[in-house]
Amino acid sequence: MQKIIDFIKQIFFTNDFIPLHEPRFIGNEKKYLNECIDSTFVSSVGKFVDQFEKEFALYVGSKYAIATVNGTAALHISLLLADVKKDDEVITQPLTFIATCNAISYIGAKPIFVDVDLDTMGMSPKSLLDFLENNCEIKDNNCINKTTRKIIKACVPMHTFGHPCKIEEIKDICEKWNIVLVEDSAESLGSFYKNKHTGTFGKIAAFSFNGNKIITSGGGGVIVTDDEVLAKKAKHITTTGKIPHPYEYVHDQIAYNYRLPNINAALLVAQMENLDNFLTSKRQLAKIYKEFFSNENITFIKEPANSKSNYWLQAVLLNTKKQRDEFLEYSNKNGVITRPIWKLMNELDMFKDCQTNKLINAKYLEERIVNIPSSVRL
Ligand SMILES: *Cc1c(COP(=O)(O)O)cnc(C)c1O
Repeated sequence: MQKIIDFIKQIFFTNDFIPLHEPRFIGNEKKYLNECIDSTFVSSVGKFVDQFEKEFALYVGSKYAIATVNGTAALHISLLLADVKKDDEVITQPLTFIATCNAISYIGAKPIFVDVDLDTMGMSPKSLLDFLENNCEIKDNNCINKTTRKIIKACVPMHTFGHPCKIEEIKDICEKWNIVLVEDSAESLGSFYKNKHTGTFGKIAAFSFNGNKIITSGGGGVIVTDDEVLAKKAKHITTTGKIPHPYEYVHDQIAYNYRLPNINAALLVAQMENLDNFLTSKRQLAKIYKEFFSNENITFIKEPANSKSNYWLQAVLLNTKKQRDEFLEYSNKNGVITRPIWKLMNELDMFKDCQTNKLINAKYLEERIVNIPSSVRL
């Protein structure tokens, strides 16, 4: 075990404490922040927001991008625009960050959990199809859950740690079952499936720029879509539903104050300029880890087939839960920060009565996956 600790300290060029993931501000961040402050346009209107949205849409190859205060807000609005309503159901994966299920719950909808694949740690198309074929029927163009008689309106797969899930197969299944595909791409900026950027397969997708993500604005998020109507609605509903007017306050619906402030966007514009450098560094780190762990009888999680991963958070698979616990204990005690993957959502109090398909892989991974230091190396 000490050998692993020594190795990680060596590749991060330090003998001190090594965080799991820290942001890097090595470009024009301070310059743009100063510019933003000098302009006094620090709030939700300003040139950095517009610039960021244009550049982001271009980067991922979607027609529209709408910046939001955080990724959870982006997901919440994405689900509303997918027409998810109170008492609807939404299929997602149990192995995800809580934000996915929180966003579903804000609407009064309920998650259903299907299994993940071992190679992607993301939603398994096989488990999704299995659940639909055994539990659902199409009636009046809606996918109906035969157990609850509720409408399954949307499906939210997540690209775990930046590794793309089998999104094309999931998309095909959703189309056949009249379910709207919403991608939780919070972790997958810079990740591609068959050369197409994650988040551009579904009707709509959400990304996050929280402090621990691959690029950050402190807090921030973005919605992407190719649908002009949805894009307009997204901007409107995140801007308090205000009808644009030179001086009058007229609002036409109950809406949200979810727009990303210009000052956060200033940070993001600078971060975007370094995204390709960050990706190169992370993919290099993955190569180093892969080689090292292959000699340690520990499985390093590689990008799945057909994918180019951003390797946002690097992960290893320990052989047993006991080995995992020992690894967590030893590394954290010795200044190398490591974290277990999330507890399964269906085992949390709030979601323990939600319907699930057999969750065999999710349980297996929950007990064995550990994230190891993943910051961009300078
Ligand atoms: C980070 C994250 C989000 C959004 O988080 P915010 O902190 O609100 O930006 C959503 N889903 C997943 C899977 C995430 O990792």
